[in-house]
Amino acid sequence: MGMNTTRIAEAKRLVIKVGSALVTNNGEGLDEAAIREWARQIAELRALGREVVLVSSGAIACGMRRLGRERRPSAVHELQACAAVGQMELVQVYESAFSAHGLHTAQVLLTHDDLADRKRYLNARSTLTTLLALGVVPVINENDTVVTDEIKFGDNDTLGALVANLVDADGLVILTDQQGLYTADPRKDARATLIAEARAGDPALEAMAGGAGTQYGKGGMITKVIAARRAAGGGAHTVIASGREPDVMPRLARGEAIGTLLVSGLPRLSARKQWLADHLQLNGRLLLDAGAVKALGDGKSLLPIGVIEAQGEFERGAAVACVSPAGTEVARGLINYGSSDARRIARHASADIESILGYIDEPEMIHRDNLVVFRDQRTGDR
Ligand code: GLU
Repeated sequence: MGMNTTRIAEAKRLVIKVGSALVTNNGEGLDEAAIREWARQIAELRALGREVVLVSSGAIACGMRRLGRERRPSAVHELQACAAVGQMELVQVYESAFSAHGLHTAQVLLTHDDLADRKRYLNARSTLTTLLALGVVPVINENDTVVTDEIKFGDNDTLGALVANLVDADGLVILTDQQGLYTADPRKDARATLIAEARAGDPALEAMAGGAGTQYGKGGMITKVIAARRAAGGGAHTVIASGREPDVMPRLARGEAIGTLLVSGLPRLSARKQWLADHLQLNGRLLLDAGAVKALGDGKSLLPIGVIEAQGEFERGAAVACVSPAGTEVARGLINYGSSDARRIARHASADIESILGYIDEPEMIHRDNLVVFRDQRTGDR
């Protein structure tokens, strides 16, 4: 056993994500036996004193089968109709599987909008932590029936990572139909070997992960690698392992090395900065000059003088990207001025704000307490 083995074993609060291919046995219909088995394993984790939040895909795949659709529909409203039908079946099966172990479940359906809005985010967090305190197992999915492109997570690997950060989990376990992350796609390359442990956010992993999801679910290895990077930002380690591995959850919890462990090496951000880091969409963009990029790297606030241009329409308090002259997002933050005022004070000294606008809110465009600065601009690491 390597040092890795304790990482998940020490995790008190875990988010476990199961993918569509597993949940529906590659689209054959809901795999009730597998679900009963996971419920048994999660009951064992609870008995070991672990708190578990389950993120389950499979609504669309289930609904497709119930409605007799052999192929994944391309029209959004048809996908949403499938999701609505499938989600009913999904939660019924989870509820009865967990109740066999005396555990209650709770259905929580989220959209990206719910997490981007600070108040709804805090609400979701306190509801989930209350459920955990009550001994309930929350079963989360994306609210597929109402999402549009602008407000969707897109895949449940991303959702799992954001939920891990939302509830301050110590570990994210992504269960899939493969053994873990390989050096190449094992379905195509016989020389591919399993990666036992790596640093979450290592750019080499994304090249190895390649390949998209299946017609049943949206994620592939690449979304899992990116999810691990996001969860690492919140301080959680991620394991990618096979959901068909016997007794996988309790074995991981006891410290056995199974699948791929992606270790978080990052210190935890404050809860509010983490919330900001996890926005998948932002309201606007500020183009910075090189001096401002350096100042942010040194931990300073963003001043109007360093902003070349403000793009987009946004209000005071909006979440905006800070982009370097090379076009990379170097930071993101909550801006003190709405877009039209931001455009007027850009490239000016803070001392001139009052004469330009007739008022001054703050001398900074974005205060450093409201900024998340990415240190490694290739990987988005802080
Ligand atoms: N939310 C989708 C579902 O339940 C799955 C998304 C994914 O496969 O990642 O069907």
